[in-house]
Amino acid sequence: MHCMNCNETIDSKAEICPKCGVRTFTVKNYCPECGSSVTANQALCVKCGTTLEAPKQTITSNYSYSPLLMGIASFFIPGLGQMIMGQVKKGLTLLIISIFLGIVTFGLAGFVLMIVATVDAVKIANKLQQGRAVEEWEFF
Ligand SMILES: [Zn+2]
Ligand SMILES: [Zn+2]
Repeated sequence: MHCMNCNETIDSKAEICPKCGVRTFTVKNYCPECGSSVTANQALCVKCGTTLEAPKQTITSNYSYSPLLMGIASFFIPGLGQMIMGQVKKGLTLLIISIFLGIVTFGLAGFVLMIVATVDAVKIANKLQQGRAVEEWEFF
């Protein structure tokens, strides 16, 4: 692929151009596919049709997580199952919200969130088990 900043040919897996040090998809001067010049507001290269948007962050797992175990983990600690599976930010957010709401509502909302986190962990583990990629913030 081409560096989107300096048009240097770089490894297709490279996230940062070794020549200019710019991270891919942060600057849009050149199409990463064909190297023709593009502008920052372009979402698509008009020459070759390649999308110029950064790919969404997804997690895939070679290790299959047991939906049952992930559900149990998130049942006791909301977000734990999600964190184990790689959805760290989402898991942490779930945990913080459940602690906060738990204190404010004397455990009531914490209980509701615990169920949500459990169901979510089971569903996400199911998807990973089927070999599907899951977005970092994907729910259910
Ligand atoms: Zn470069
Ligand atoms: Zn192109």
